[in-house]
Amino acid sequence: MAENPPRIPSMNEILESCAERGFESYGREACRAACSRALDGVRARRKAGDSLAAVDEAFWTQVAAFLKVLPSLQLRGAINATGVVLHTNLGRAPWPEEAVQAAAAASSASLCEIDRRSGGRGRRDRPVSELLARVTGAEAGLPVNNNAATVLLAVSALARGRKVVVARKELVEIGGSYRMPEVIAAAGAQMVEIGTTNRVHLKDFESAMGDPEVSLVLRIHPSNFRIEGFTKEPPMKEIAALCRERGLPLVYDLGSGVLNGSDLRGLEQEHPVQDSLADGCDLVTFSGDKLLGGPQAGLIVGAKPLVERLRRDMLTRCLRLDKTMLAALEAVLSIHALGEESARSRIPALQRLSLTHEQLRQRASAFADAINNSASAIQASVVDCAGRVGSGASPTEDLPSAGVLLAQEGLDAEQLAQRLRDADPPTFARIQDEAVLLDLRTVADHELVILQQWICHQS
Ligand SMILES: *Cc1c(COP(=O)(O)O)cnc(C)c1O
Repeated sequence: MAENPPRIPSMNEILESCAERGFESYGREACRAACSRALDGVRARRKAGDSLAAVDEAFWTQVAAFLKVLPSLQLRGAINATGVVLHTNLGRAPWPEEAVQAAAAASSASLCEIDRRSGGRGRRDRPVSELLARVTGAEAGLPVNNNAATVLLAVSALARGRKVVVARKELVEIGGSYRMPEVIAAAGAQMVEIGTTNRVHLKDFESAMGDPEVSLVLRIHPSNFRIEGFTKEPPMKEIAALCRERGLPLVYDLGSGVLNGSDLRGLEQEHPVQDSLADGCDLVTFSGDKLLGGPQAGLIVGAKPLVERLRRDMLTRCLRLDKTMLAALEAVLSIHALGEESARSRIPALQRLSLTHEQLRQRASAFADAINNSASAIQASVVDCAGRVGSGASPTEDLPSAGVLLAQEGLDAEQLAQRLRDADPPTFARIQDEAVLLDLRTVADHELVILQQWICHQS
């Protein structure tokens, strides 16, 4: 005799049961997250034909287990209300949902290094490498752990024990003690510095290339600073032509690496990866978690024989990516492969960069109204502000934005900002005009709901 399948209660009903079971002390958001994960399991069992799967004791055992671990983690999710789209300290690019799903699906056993047809060993980087080549139009691609690693790898594979030509005006330091001269030294090569702090000429490249020990020309995008005034550098095309004539590889560390969306505000100074390849660079390197909008990774694209030399280098094995990162990267690159429209609507980093001042003002206005119409002890007002791309991209460019200033009687701005950081999830804001500023450009829609609820309930 078939039994009627038990009804799956609503989230609100489940949360009430959480309170009855004494889980309240973990906080509502933690309970919601734990129950939602456990409910996924119930739904999956139903789908698989177990019509009796229910919110039963097994369900509650799982919720209790999640609650023991997840809310006490230090590396938990946070809300970025700073207006800095690629905030390095908050983990740079927010992942598109497709990447989250792909990584979760690959987190158990995955096809990361197995050939599906033969059942034998496969090449771990193949799907992502092929996709990289396809979306950039390059002959070949190679993903590694991060962009810092691509330069180390390229110099090590192509110039270990020999010399690298590099312009003085490009000897950058990236955040986190990553200094170009030290990277080149660590890769076992010697630098031949050319030009001055503000200028470098084609003849500087030409005379340096005369040294028979030189085996690589390295150019670095001055990501996080600008030199203005009396400056000069030869066009990349001319340097590339010279390198080809001398048979020397030209490697360009682009850093931010725009594939689609280079016309977005704030990105006018960034060179798209495809343009750098068209200019004749033999290898171009960029980050996965900057303007590509995906997980941390270092991506190398360019001439096949050079990419193959890098792939065979021992360092590549030391710098390889995790199966979940490869899956997330494949998802992000697949979105880019569908074109500009797809990238802009599906990749949160690009989506956030394309929000206009008008859209943000409307968002801020509705948010402030909801707070001011509640019984909250916090007052809100709409204000114009300036966001940033972040992570070294377009460092001198402001993103015209609008946000909400928060104030609470009896608390100074730093105290209120601290309360927001202590909230669940922790929320990071800026301080402007001695008030707390939430720049809503970098807050996702579902985070906005949580944040609004939290603020409205402050007494
Ligand atoms: C950001 C950046 C790097 C470092 O990239 P990571 O992915 O953070 O390792 C290296 N070079 C340039 C030019 C950069 O902008």
